[in-house]
Amino acid sequence: KAKQAGGASLAFFTQDILVEASSRLTIAAELKRAILENELELYLQPQLDSASGEVVGAEALLRWNHPVKGFLTPAAFIDVAEQTRAIRLVTGWLVKESFSIIKRWEQAGRDLFLSFNISALDLADNELLLRMTEELEQQQIKPANIELEIVESAIIENFQSASAILSKLREIGFHVAIDDFGTGYSSLAYLDKLPVDKLKIDREFTSKLELGEGAGIVKSIVDLASNFDLRVLAEGVETLEQEQLLKQLGCQRVQGFYYSKPIPLAEFEQKYLLPQA
Ligand code: C2E
Ligand code: MG
Ligand code: MG
Ligand code: MG
Repeated sequence: KAKQAGGASLAFFTQDILVEASSRLTIAAELKRAILENELELYLQPQLDSASGEVVGAEALLRWNHPVKGFLTPAAFIDVAEQTRAIRLVTGWLVKESFSIIKRWEQAGRDLFLSFNISALDLADNELLLRMTEELEQQQIKPANIELEIVESAIIENFQSASAILSKLREIGFHVAIDDFGTGYSSLAYLDKLPVDKLKIDREFTSKLELGEGAGIVKSIVDLASNFDLRVLAEGVETLEQEQLLKQLGCQRVQGFYYSKPIPLAEFEQKYLLPQA
């Protein structure tokens, strides 16, 4: 009896793994189709200079208009994409898309930057570097108007390869930002060697500011950035009070729902580009 029950639960267990594995493969295979069928879309969220309130650039955040599952945010597919290498197709698409957006902005006489998120796998070999170089050759944009966002752990996991690639990208003139800063290793020993231009303070710390918590960490990161000659931005700003505290703490750049949620590209251009074009 006991053996039977064990057998049954083992069968269920195996079944779960199979379902899980096949849904992973489905998402990975579907992402290929999604790119061919134009189902991926970028939503843009402005980044502002905190002193002047001016929009200086935007972060591109991926959305998937799935024919059956509807409108998907990254939580529904980015992890799987990263685990199945499908992320490399996604990143390839991001390169083309971002460069052509910047091209259009430059042609309209606007000097805003666009950042997009990359993953650890994108820094495991030269593919991203090649794609970025090729696209730069074709589009002839200002490389400083493209920024890559990467979490610290993705650089540190594979430090040799990742830092070599990021250094080359920066030599060309592209910018690199560390995303979710303060939640990872945040080791001073590494910070000195990281080939980056900007620290993005994780929204966990921004959200605690009003409670009187988080200010110490924010101040430390702001000082760190200043000592290492890096830009610093606070993510996840949702209130006026947070904005004011961030200004007092000397944080140069801000991003968050208080200014705007991520919005479709056309809406972003309508709001932030056309009036001044
Ligand atoms: P992230 O790069 O740290 O992006 C910030 C996330 O916080 C975004 O969620 C954004 O919509 C959200 N956010 C922005 N301001 C606020 C705020 O004031 N309050 C709150 N509560 N949330 C705010 P989203 O778009 O769902 O993206 C989640 C994560 O998925 C991103 O975190 C990034 O790690 C990943 N991701 C997004 N797009 C891409 C992509 O194109 N490629 C890769 N590899 N990863 C991506
Ligand atoms: Mg990001
Ligand atoms: Mg972040
Ligand atoms: Mg994140």
